[in-house]
Amino acid sequence: MNLNKKEILDKLESGEIKLHQIEKYAENANEATDIRREFISTQTNTDLENIGKYSIDMTDTVKKNIENPIGTIQIPVGVVGPVKINTDDETIETYAPMATTEGALLASVNRGCSVIRNSGGCNVSIVSDQMTRAPVFKTNSVFESEKLKTWIQNNFDKLKEIAESTTSHGKLLKIDPISIVGHYVYARFVFNTGDSMGMNMVTIATEQCANYISKENDVHAVALSSNYCVDKKPSALNLIEGRGKSIVAEITVPKEIVEKTLKTTAEAIVEVNYAKNFIGSALSGSYGYNAHFANMVAAIFLATGQDPAHVVEGSIGITSAENNNGDLYFSITLPDLPVATVGGGTRMETAIESLNIMDCKGSGKVHRYASIVASIVLAGELSLVAALSAGHLARAHKQLGR
Ligand code: NAP
Repeated sequence: MNLNKKEILDKLESGEIKLHQIEKYAENANEATDIRREFISTQTNTDLENIGKYSIDMTDTVKKNIENPIGTIQIPVGVVGPVKINTDDETIETYAPMATTEGALLASVNRGCSVIRNSGGCNVSIVSDQMTRAPVFKTNSVFESEKLKTWIQNNFDKLKEIAESTTSHGKLLKIDPISIVGHYVYARFVFNTGDSMGMNMVTIATEQCANYISKENDVHAVALSSNYCVDKKPSALNLIEGRGKSIVAEITVPKEIVEKTLKTTAEAIVEVNYAKNFIGSALSGSYGYNAHFANMVAAIFLATGQDPAHVVEGSIGITSAENNNGDLYFSITLPDLPVATVGGGTRMETAIESLNIMDCKGSGKVHRYASIVASIVLAGELSLVAALSAGHLARAHKQLGR
């Protein structure tokens, strides 16, 4: 039933219509968004003019991406590059969009991109590709837990058939590890999810399997997600086993470029990396053996419609640096990068445009996209570690000079 704007606002005021019900009564999702914003603006005595200025269509957005919309926020977006990437089967040269409010970030990443370009490009390899969901089952005793573990292992083929009946793109690769704690059994379902990030896909598939496991073994799933997945939390399991795309990017920067562009030496970079990214991280119990992966991951995720909560996983990883007679070998390893070029937020109008800058929208593009993200992380990491080491070098010279 359509009502006019005044009628909806009056009914919101009186409580006859709830905030989440406006779409039912408004002409369309865009009008519903405007009415909700006006209501909140009045209720909170707040000017929401800028939140109300946007170009995206709320029709699908409100079905797939958000509830109770009142508009959008705006984050400045810029570009870096071109960055040059050598993968197993192609050479990529591309600009990359990054959205942030952190001044100096893009300038620094851009410097890293020019170092990568002038050094002949970086090598990027996706060493593992898997998305996970791990239910926890409750049995009556540890003996039953052991039996359940064996049953799941012995019935993998049947579980794979059930999982894959729910999706045309997802493939169940393994159920591993399966861990027992008392009478609880934690089973990590590992999927290939094609070009989607895959969390909805693997949740639906795993739920069907969990129902079958529960029925056949007279156990029940206490939670479909047991925190053994591990979704949106920093975790040693993800660091070791990998989640999403696990990627390595590496480069050898010739001595002249280290000195001229980065204004430091390989030796100084190696020391900063050792003292900061290895010892400092070990001392603090961090899973981020790196300087600032999260900065680059967050900015490119925001620009391209990835799930921003996965930045916590993208922040995990290791930076390595070696001095090869003055040339610098530098690598970043991202074990846990959930990314997509299909589904989720990648369908948003601005995300599509950002993905198009890199020719990364749609099916068949996720490895290209993941490789570009890794190269941008490499660029930003190299630039910051070099800047820190340039300061370190300058201070060392000053002290020696005295
Ligand atoms: P989705 O938007 O639900 O699904 C993507 C779907 O696109 C796939 O299931 C697949 O359908 C279809 N598809 C079409 N072409 C594809 C291709 N080339 N490769 C792979 N799939 C293709 O997204 P999702 O990636 O599964 O999940 C992402 C969303 O989940 C995000 O919005 C994220 O915020 C949210 N999320 C959910 C949870 C959760 O627990 N449910 C947790 C974290 C995040 P078929 O399966 O039919 O093949």
